[in-house]
Amino acid sequence: MTIKMKRLGRTDIEVFPIAFGGIPIQRISEEEAIKVVRRAIELGINLIDTARAYSDSEVKIGKALKGIDKKVFLSSKSFGRTKDEIYADVKASLKNLGVKKIDIYHMHAVNDKETLNKVMSPDGAYYGLLKAKEEGLIDFIAVSTHNVDIAQELIKTDKFDVIQVCYNFIETEAEEKVFPLAKEKDVGIIAMKPMGGGVVPNPTLSLKFVLQNDYIVPDPGMESIKEVEENVRLVHEISPLTKEELQEIERIKNEMGQAFCRRCDYCQPCPQGIAISTIIRADSFIKRFPKEYLKEKWFYEQYLKAKTCTKCGVCATRCPYNLPIPDLIEKNVRLLEEYLA
Ligand code: SF4
Ligand code: SF4
Repeated sequence: MTIKMKRLGRTDIEVFPIAFGGIPIQRISEEEAIKVVRRAIELGINLIDTARAYSDSEVKIGKALKGIDKKVFLSSKSFGRTKDEIYADVKASLKNLGVKKIDIYHMHAVNDKETLNKVMSPDGAYYGLLKAKEEGLIDFIAVSTHNVDIAQELIKTDKFDVIQVCYNFIETEAEEKVFPLAKEKDVGIIAMKPMGGGVVPNPTLSLKFVLQNDYIVPDPGMESIKEVEENVRLVHEISPLTKEELQEIERIKNEMGQAFCRRCDYCQPCPQGIAISTIIRADSFIKRFPKEYLKEKWFYEQYLKAKTCTKCGVCATRCPYNLPIPDLIEKNVRLLEEYLA
């Protein structure tokens, strides 16, 4: 069966219906990662998405690409917020991936107004990417965000070729707030967390739901050849959702709705400086990231900070999904305590 490729907005890149998400290969050996990435390419996947923040993911992908003569489009991201920081990160990504040019480069997780203003200021990250583009180091400038209102503002600037937003059957806010505007501006959409960041109990159904939309390209994370083959098979066998599947989606939504964080950060700021959306999704981090990564650096600091939660409750009053945040913080701190012990 011939696969109908998807045009990634104004980039005019023709993409296989799913991209390869590069988070989970951090958890497996280099040898395994190379096999997984190569199997994905062999089966037709031609867009690989990774980030500077995913520890050795870029390096593993770079090694997997050695000797591959098929065109594979690469997408990476950086948390650099200034012009110089992100420009240096583009150079680091090029070295890690072993290429002379990266097709798509994102400012990673621009989730709030303050960050948006910073990255778009004259010394901000956007201008670092523009410089990289002018020098031929990247082809397209992109941005990822977990916040649909910020996504709208970013698209309206008309400065981005691709936007990456969360989309799965629990997080559907982008359908109304992001997709129509992106289409109007011909901005390509990569749908991150198509399986809810690994926590939705029926991942195949979750991906099937996202694949119903022809305009967006989901990038499920994959860490085994079996997962790659299953996801590609789903693309080949795609069909409309059945009545039973729709009922199952409703059931899961009802079950998970009260604990599922959309990472929108409307609950911020927390007076204790707690990264609420990170901590209450600890299970997703545990599933996708290596333990050593969580025991080190940024994540561990966030865990320690979360222990200082005073249960003041101010965050819960701001959450549009009425999540019982203080209880979720307590529960996830306990979970992390046991896991990281
Ligand atoms: S309840 Fe905890 S997490 Fe929420 S605002 Fe207060 S200190 Fe921060
Ligand atoms: S707790 Fe609520 S407001 Fe905060 S990030 Fe999650 S969904 Fe958004």
